Amino acid sequence: MICPICKDAMIILELDQVEIDYCTTCEGIWLDSGELEMLLENEAERKKVLDTLHEDHDHPEKLNKCPICGKKMIKVHAGENKEVLIDKCKKDHGLWFDKGELNTVVELGAKEEENKIAHLLKEMFENKISTNDKGETK
Ligand SMILES: [Zn+2]
Ligand SMILES: [Zn+2]
Repeated sequence: MICPICKDAMIILELDQVEIDYCTTCEGIWLDSGELEMLLENEAERKKVLDTLHEDHDHPEKLNKCPICGKKMIKVHAGENKEVLIDKCKKDHGLWFDKGELNTVVELGAKEEENKIAHLLKEMFENKISTNDKGETK
């Protein structure tokens, strides 16, 4: 699959038996429809996160295209305080998360840091940051 932001080919990573598409250039993540539900561990987490997803009308200027159908995606915010702005295909092919956003969304549902997915993602991104860093920040 091609990254909707940089148009580079994405790689497939396995995260707790869910295959996610990951762009090594911008570090964004594509989840096919239903995969976010699979990453959220139980009904309570699913409800907590999915109930906060609402279409956003404040950011119409920068719409990315769905890597599956090529149509412009809509912006959806997640979290009670609209912490994250993600892209969603109108035809429900999936969701696009910019760097670090998936982690934030998963953490919205998790009560503690015991959440497995949040932990895996954190490890993944922390490794990434330390290897890619040019030495200016952490
Ligand atoms: Zn990219
Ligand atoms: Zn689509």
